[in-house]
Amino acid sequence: MSGNIDILHEQGRGKSFSDEIRILCGVNISTCLQCRTCASVCPFYEAMGHAPHTLFRKIQYGLRQDVLTSSAIWICVGCNTCASQCPAGIDIVAVMDVLRQLALETNMPIPEEDILNFHREVLHSIERYGRTHKLEIMLRYKIKSGHLLADLDTGMIMLAKRKLDLRPSRVHAVNEIKRLFKKTWQET
Ligand code: SF4
Ligand code: SF4
Repeated sequence: MSGNIDILHEQGRGKSFSDEIRILCGVNISTCLQCRTCASVCPFYEAMGHAPHTLFRKIQYGLRQDVLTSSAIWICVGCNTCASQCPAGIDIVAVMDVLRQLALETNMPIPEEDILNFHREVLHSIERYGRTHKLEIMLRYKIKSGHLLADLDTGMIMLAKRKLDLRPSRVHAVNEIKRLFKKTWQET
């Protein structure tokens, strides 16, 4: 882990759960209006069990274990739909990132089987191409998880509707992205 993150963790020690999150990612969740816009726009709301506003309320109550062991923080795909609509301008994705990071660092049980492999495949795809190649992510994830035939019908429908690109597309500065990842992997 990088020195800067270590310093941030040191600053957060002994603080309330909300303050710890504010220190780690700069987001003040006390500005949440509990308007539930995030819940209404999240494409994964039903699967998550808790929408961001519920997690934020639990964080304010200091329910650390409850939040860090929730499925919601792992099912969130960081699509930013919620944050783009949030009237309080809360960077919800940054909070989710910090919650996953805290869950891993404190060895919290991960309720979703294989979900860590899925997140790793997403990161590796960004490392390779600078953006995600969904078809490859799904295939690699399924091979690793051993559930090759699960959701096959959904995958075929997505292919037929051209929702999945057969070939990956790369950003121009892909080598810079690879260098950033290399540096990050070395520091973690
Ligand atoms: S949309 Fe923003 S302000 Fe509204 S409940 Fe969600 S996080 Fe809170
Ligand atoms: S970033 Fe996560 S919580 Fe927000 S809309 Fe996307 S999946 Fe839902």
